[in-house]
Amino acid sequence: MKYRKLGKTQLNISEVGCGGIPIQHISQEEVNKLVDKMIELGINFIDSARGYTISEEMFGKALLGKRDKFYLATKSMSRNYEDMKRDIEISLNNFQTDHIDLYQLHNLRDDNYQGALKALEEAKKEGRVKHIGFSSHSVDFAYELISKTDIFETIQIPYNFLELQAVKLFKLAKMKNIGVIVMKPLAGGNIDKAKTSLKYILANDCVSVAIPGMESIKQIEENASIDNYDLTKDEEIYIQNMRELFKNEFCHRCGYCMPCSVGIDIPSSFTYENYYKKYNLKEWAILRYEGMNVKPSACIACRKCEARCPYGLHIVDKLKRVVEVFEHE
Ligand code: SF4
Ligand code: SF4
Repeated sequence: MKYRKLGKTQLNISEVGCGGIPIQHISQEEVNKLVDKMIELGINFIDSARGYTISEEMFGKALLGKRDKFYLATKSMSRNYEDMKRDIEISLNNFQTDHIDLYQLHNLRDDNYQGALKALEEAKKEGRVKHIGFSSHSVDFAYELISKTDIFETIQIPYNFLELQAVKLFKLAKMKNIGVIVMKPLAGGNIDKAKTSLKYILANDCVSVAIPGMESIKQIEENASIDNYDLTKDEEIYIQNMRELFKNEFCHRCGYCMPCSVGIDIPSSFTYENYYKKYNLKEWAILRYEGMNVKPSACIACRKCEARCPYGLHIVDKLKRVVEVFEHE
């Protein structure tokens, strides 16, 4: 396993870390085994979130007596002071630890985070949170944010050979010594050759760590087996073919299609479909779908969103398929 510095945090982390979404649907015993395998293979970075139901708690149990082998990152959607203060407490309790190495504002897309940031800064002064970062799906927003402030030590953003939009902010992040955590390294489960995708991502030296979701020993072994980033001829052909296959099909979660005329959260609709179909997180996806203020079935096919989508996605048709999954299965 190779290690890289996580930007200005100076944490020396494995270039492949563990994304904490999929462990929600495996047993505690299996999570314990995954953690032991990660230690054996040198993976020392775990990323979870308050929103991943029991993920923090399961890691906390599996890490008893092994806490010092990992840097723990988590994140919260809370945006005001009180909620974030409460979430930090919950995360500390769940992980059964006295400090979290990196606490991130989850899925930041506007400037409404000042209260939450105050709570994080207080926790940092107390030593209960060591570093502060944020995650975002919007490259433009993230670019602007790291341009105008030096508060954040890391950014978490999607990047893989199907989703290259983050390249735009890598240079700036490197210049400002902000750690880059790559989420969705397998494009939300759409890329089936994990090793090829990780090699492609890690060949970029602006990246600090890629965090594929891991739920089996086999996945950990495959993800940890990367010893060089050179793509074989077959891998290059695979990448070309995948790009062709997903050309007008893959949602980059950029949000340019928004706002929808009737208030549908278009990118989230596709994300939930992915979680349902590719990650085998059916209940979790259904819960989120049920919580949507406006369901995709409300689409009136005005196609204003399609005119705004830079990737030419047939959004109306795609939304119909989402409805099929959640309302007719
Ligand atoms: S086509 Fe449907 S999803 Fe797109 S803006 Fe119109 S109502 Fe919203
Ligand atoms: S549908 Fe198009 S514009 Fe909307 S989030 Fe997906 S890729 Fe971006």
